[in-house]
Amino acid sequence: MSLIETLSQTRDLPDTELTALLTTDKFDQELFRRADERRREFYGTDVYLRGLIELTNYCKNDCFYCGIRYSNARLERYRLSLDTILNCCNTGYELGYRTFVLQGGEDPFFNDDRLVEIVSAIRTHLSQKHLADCAITLSLGERSRESYQKLFDAGANRYLLRHETADAEHYAKLHPESMSLEYRKECLWMLKEIGYQVGTGFMVGSPFQTMECLIADLRFLQQLKPSMIGIGPFLVHRDTPFNEYPNGSLSLTLRLIAILRLMFPYALIPATTALGTIDPQGRELGLRAGANVVMPNLSPVEVRKKYELYNNKIHTDKEAAENKALLASSVAAAGYAIVTNIGNVKPDCPNDGHSQCAGHSQCVDAMY
Ligand code: SAM
Repeated sequence: MSLIETLSQTRDLPDTELTALLTTDKFDQELFRRADERRREFYGTDVYLRGLIELTNYCKNDCFYCGIRYSNARLERYRLSLDTILNCCNTGYELGYRTFVLQGGEDPFFNDDRLVEIVSAIRTHLSQKHLADCAITLSLGERSRESYQKLFDAGANRYLLRHETADAEHYAKLHPESMSLEYRKECLWMLKEIGYQVGTGFMVGSPFQTMECLIADLRFLQQLKPSMIGIGPFLVHRDTPFNEYPNGSLSLTLRLIAILRLMFPYALIPATTALGTIDPQGRELGLRAGANVVMPNLSPVEVRKKYELYNNKIHTDKEAAENKALLASSVAAAGYAIVTNIGNVKPDCPNDGHSQCAGHSQCVDAMY
């Protein structure tokens, strides 16, 4: 049996064989073909949409790679008001978005009370308009268990928190001493225990990353079994300590997306903005390598440029939520179709690939 067939059937390979898949392009064709078959078994041609609302670009953290880091004094900072956020949700709903992702830097202004007010207001607003078929996703970094619980109780259902790298030494080279991989992972476990659908992920090609780091990422994902796995190339930002490092690679990111699809066939895997930024066709290539989610920008147009995590981050054209028709046609040209629904993760199935399965305890577990 070929390496790729073994990966597809067993959802696993030894480290040396995963490294072999990652370090050459000779398996790419079979890898992408098999990943696409697998995504179709679980998700058909459906591409789920998430409307991204970039809540704040204030951040107390100083991650060495990130353009909105605390020490970037050249950045003009902003925060969205509750009214603006509700307007974004309204516009998004009208456009056919059924998941709203509130993402932001770790901004102490958004304490638990303010965030609970925002999440509850979105829920009330949606239900008054009989728009109950929506998910609220948060991506607001590391918080306490109590905080995550309050936000869940207020009506948030999903949480995205990339682990960034599962190798502790590598993590320490990307972050200041005040941050630890240990707490980041603990947050992910807490979120899962509370009942959120959890998304995690990592950057591809971040400075000092080795193949061993990437294998550690895959092994961590096997333990966590997240609902969503978001990866994208590291992209340089001019006003960070990493301003002279090269960008991550498109082809390695695509290979990893395909491997993730085979290891976690049930997962939601976004074709990320970073992928669309590194190559104009990056998002479509990501879909063809096994991704099944896109997250267009629903933030008010005037703040989009200020949420610049890396140079030239795209925020117009297909990336803009209001240009859905443009996105729909490029997704269709790649062979898939945007759908208007909440876009929950599919149950995983011990019978291997039966996406309609309902009722196995493992299937139910895998949803959370
Ligand atoms: N503060 C929240 C957190 O820590 O999860 C969410 C916002 S954070 C800016 C969102 C993601 O942007 C990070 O998880 C990181 O992977 C990605 N990111 C930041 N800088 C990047 C860069 N230079 N290149 C690629 N991705 C980057």
